[in-house]
Amino acid sequence: MIVVIMFYMKKTLHLNLHNLNIPVEVTYGTRNRRTFYLCYGIISTTISENSSLSSLRERLEKIFPYEKLAKINLTPLYTDSYVYIFGSVYHFINRGKSSFDYEHCYVNLGNGFLSIKEILYSYIVNRLEELEKIMGLSHHQIKIRNMVTCLGVNHLKSHEITFGIKLVHFSKELIDSVIIHELCHDKVANHSQKFYNLVEQYCQNYKEKTQKLIYGKVN
Ligand SMILES: [Zn+2]
Repeated sequence: MIVVIMFYMKKTLHLNLHNLNIPVEVTYGTRNRRTFYLCYGIISTTISENSSLSSLRERLEKIFPYEKLAKINLTPLYTDSYVYIFGSVYHFINRGKSSFDYEHCYVNLGNGFLSIKEILYSYIVNRLEELEKIMGLSHHQIKIRNMVTCLGVNHLKSHEITFGIKLVHFSKELIDSVIIHELCHDKVANHSQKFYNLVEQYCQNYKEKTQKLIYGKVN
């Protein structure tokens, strides 16, 4: 038996699209996929290893007009010297790798140093419990993952919600809009008008908040 292990390499590039320097997270796979996502102000896609960057640029410029890309916040959510947490800038200490990393970079928000992942986890765990009570829902398990294509996923069968780690960069108000969105899926599974009406009941200006998360605007 031959076992083939596939490694999908991820790389964040900065591509000149319509004369804007846009972050593009590329996953190198075996073939080109025609799916492109814009979330957290980052475009993500999968391309084959032998496809050229110029053809990727051309495709992206067709899919994303200037007007759309011009809405992206081009201030990085983190660099090697600072990180946005809950919408404000902090300096971090690195206990592991030499560059920024959600699990090895620690920030002190007033009660000791916690990793950036722990900071998001402890906020969401507490806020989720409050919102579950308000909405009359039972308790969910949570997971935090480094997702670039979405903000959160509610796994209805296992009663577990996965949140994107990049949410940590955004204001608590914006994070709450994602928690509310995912909790509302307990009542309405799809993205129908009925669903969005329900979300609006618990989250004012929901659409505006989602736009900020898509375009990487932290506040
Ligand atoms: Zn949804």
